Amino acid sequence: MIYPVYVYGSPILRKEAEELTADHPELQQLAADMHDTMRASNGVGLAAPQIGLPLRIFVIDLSPYADEEPHLAKSKRTFINPEIYDESDVEVLMSEGCLSLPGLNEDVYRPEKIRVRWMDENFAPHDEEFEGHEARVIQHEYDHLDGKLFVDHLSALRKTMMRGKLSSISKGKYSAKYKTRQK
Ligand code: ZN
Repeated sequence: MIYPVYVYGSPILRKEAEELTADHPELQQLAADMHDTMRASNGVGLAAPQIGLPLRIFVIDLSPYADEEPHLAKSKRTFINPEIYDESDVEVLMSEGCLSLPGLNEDVYRPEKIRVRWMDENFAPHDEEFEGHEARVIQHEYDHLDGKLFVDHLSALRKTMMRGKLSSISKGKYSAKYKTRQK
């Protein structure tokens, strides 16, 4: 099932999501639906709040970048109850976009490397270090679970300059090539 993606202005995007338990109903189906929705929207990451569910689960798949970085061909993963428990002091600037902020791209500073613990869709535990594109997308999606968006990381000046665009999105004035919804 392909879900519509909630866009900026929807209260669900600002809620703190809740942890899942191993007996969460149809967990594997939810993960599969999230991967399908992400792919149908041409995204490389999608968090449950973006499809209206206040749950601590997100999916990533950076295989579209595999031409530049071959190891990303196998980057399709599901993160449940993730915890970023270590990060590098070095921060790097990278351009970010978000399916919930159609048409917006901005440079954002974030730690270059992170260490993450999480459960996969079978509730098996994982613990790995990530860097580069993967670290970037994981941090972006992780923020969604805490009700944060990439625009929250911008400077006050940049935020002021974005105000008009954000207001337009929340009023439904945007175009997206995938199914979206509001509220
Ligand atoms: Zn996003």
